[in-house]
Amino acid sequence: MIEIDSLTKLAEGKTKVIFANPSDSDSVIMYLKDDITAGDGLKHDVIPGKAIVDWRVNRDTFELFNSVGLPTHYISSPQEKVVFVKKLQRKINLEVVSRRVATGSIIRWGLVEEGTRFDPVVTEFYYKDDILHDPKLDDRYVDLLINVKGSTEFRTMREVNAQAFDVLESAFAQQGFQLVDFKLEYGIIDGRVCIIDEVSAGSLRLWPYGEGPINLKQKNVLSVLCPDGRLDKDIYRRGESLDKVMSGFQRVAELTGRFQN
Ligand code: 5GP
Repeated sequence: MIEIDSLTKLAEGKTKVIFANPSDSDSVIMYLKDDITAGDGLKHDVIPGKAIVDWRVNRDTFELFNSVGLPTHYISSPQEKVVFVKKLQRKINLEVVSRRVATGSIIRWGLVEEGTRFDPVVTEFYYKDDILHDPKLDDRYVDLLINVKGSTEFRTMREVNAQAFDVLESAFAQQGFQLVDFKLEYGIIDGRVCIIDEVSAGSLRLWPYGEGPINLKQKNVLSVLCPDGRLDKDIYRRGESLDKVMSGFQRVAELTGRFQN
């Protein structure tokens, strides 16, 4: 049993604390918190029990990623709320979002209609800084970094994010849910670009399929999905009760608990 109170704290974020691992200097301990935030940290609550649910979703997702050979920092989840992860050489201060179905910030730009289906997924980079409101990097500029400046890190993040999306999307699809979009973060471990941080119902959007035949190959899939049945952090962002947020997150953990690795 790991005694959290006896560990040396290295850093603390909105939803987790990082501790030194006393028995291994190549790894650190990530300890999840019950806090939930939105709107660049302006909205904040504590939902008792949320950390355990997030821990289960994180464990199931990272075990799935590791099982298909995606590069990640994840080692193991030895006890509730506790995750062993590899120590980073360098953190990359970006949020990398992939989208299958247009909703959220992308429709606020007014360039696409809600429900537009992207195939392949679109992958976008946001500079991670709450005060600056996580500004988006221009996609054409990222293309230039990859194709002209030869940035292998951007190229790898784009590829890995899309692969991880496809893997997670099919795991949810088997259970009648559409992974709409998600956000991952990256860092360098042993010279390799790896998925880091946590994945929970707070970092993705998940909508159930609607009734009847589901044709997901059309240009706009809004009519075959059921956004009102969402299980993700949009429940919180939209100001619904914390009980409703918790029950959505618990449903996500039930789904990830059925992932086949
Ligand atoms: P959007 O850009 O549409 O607001 O978000 C796209 C996806 O990335 C959503 O699944 C959303 O939950 C996730 N996302 C975007 N920014 C953040 C963030 O700062 N924190 C977390 N946890 N997820 C984010």
